[in-house]
Amino acid sequence: MKQEYADIVHRCFRCGWCKLPTNYVDFNCPAYLKYRFETFASGGRMWLIRAWLDGDIETSERLGQILFSCVTCKNCVEACALPKIKDSLVDIFIAAREDLVEKGAVPPAVRDYLKAMSISGNPYKKPRDERSDWAKGLDLPEFTDQEYLFYVGDVGSYDELGMKMAREVGKLLRDTGLSIGILGSAEVSDGNDVKTLGEAGLASHLMQENIRVLRERGVRKIITLSPHGYNAMKNDYPSLGGRFEVYHYTQVLGLMVNDRVPKGTLDVKVTFHDPCYLGRWNREYWGPRFLLGSVPGVRLVEMDRNMQNALCCGGGGGNFYTDILGTGADSASQVRAREALDTGADILAVACPICHKMLDDAVKAEGLEGAIRVMDVAGVVNLSRG
Ligand code: SF4
Ligand code: SF4
Repeated sequence: MKQEYADIVHRCFRCGWCKLPTNYVDFNCPAYLKYRFETFASGGRMWLIRAWLDGDIETSERLGQILFSCVTCKNCVEACALPKIKDSLVDIFIAAREDLVEKGAVPPAVRDYLKAMSISGNPYKKPRDERSDWAKGLDLPEFTDQEYLFYVGDVGSYDELGMKMAREVGKLLRDTGLSIGILGSAEVSDGNDVKTLGEAGLASHLMQENIRVLRERGVRKIITLSPHGYNAMKNDYPSLGGRFEVYHYTQVLGLMVNDRVPKGTLDVKVTFHDPCYLGRWNREYWGPRFLLGSVPGVRLVEMDRNMQNALCCGGGGGNFYTDILGTGADSASQVRAREALDTGADILAVACPICHKMLDDAVKAEGLEGAIRVMDVAGVVNLSRG
């Protein structure tokens, strides 16, 4: 672990604020919410890493389970009381994972994910030429010299619900009249979740390969489906030589769709789940709300935990692929599904394919299918268009 991080870990004094949201309504660290042991929350995690660096505890399966249970949601960064350490918290947790990856001491599910990414270039172990299947029949051209590239990523390319979301967004972008193209089977994984799972070398390789393809194609402006891809391209790619104008789809559509796409009227109550990688990681809270608010008849209601206090869906930090946090009534996704239901909303709107799948599964696990429906923001707009 970098010396600068080793020099920080001892400064945490375990006050415990980091597992709460800033309005203190409930525990907001998904790992703590599930296991209720201090060692799974940020402060305990810091002390655990300190003891490990000092040689007081050994590398073990249990240590791996604890370190990889963090969903990198940044609630602790938002809530930690100490300015000198708060911004480094998640970087320290990822650096500790990097050390475990280097030692080859990772949980089997992490090993399997990284192996799939290394061999197949995607977590589903599917052929690259299936990456364009989501776009069949949509009439979206391959990127040549259009103004924007619509970048879909792994979940949008291969997961059934992710593909459905990619189609909804692709359709809306197309009908907005933007000059847009896609890469289809030429797309490379964005590398974001490989990085958060601690495989820095593979993440850098994927990111550089992606940058090479984007530059070769002459891409300048990118619209991403996933906040995870958006985060990597915006914050990691520049230092690797990849400087692009990057937007999440809700940022572009939130500004444009009002004038350009005629909409019908809905009569629905909608609550919005902020994705961590759009919200706390990149401070974008309003794009999705503007987009939802552009639909006549949509009444937006907020959950108690929203914007910088939102509870993660539990799928961040690679947990979507590894499922180290697992399911159950205390899993973040199921807690979040119940919280959404409590607002009286008919629709739980999402803006990330990972949140979409996590919360859709949670609604089913809670037996709430008839009570609340999970839809992506573009899907809500398209619903009003008939
Ligand atoms: S809020 Fe900050 S100082 Fe307090 S326990 Fe959490 S990480 Fe440590
Ligand atoms: S990043 Fe999220 S899951 Fe990880 S310790 Fe902080 S609050 Fe908990």
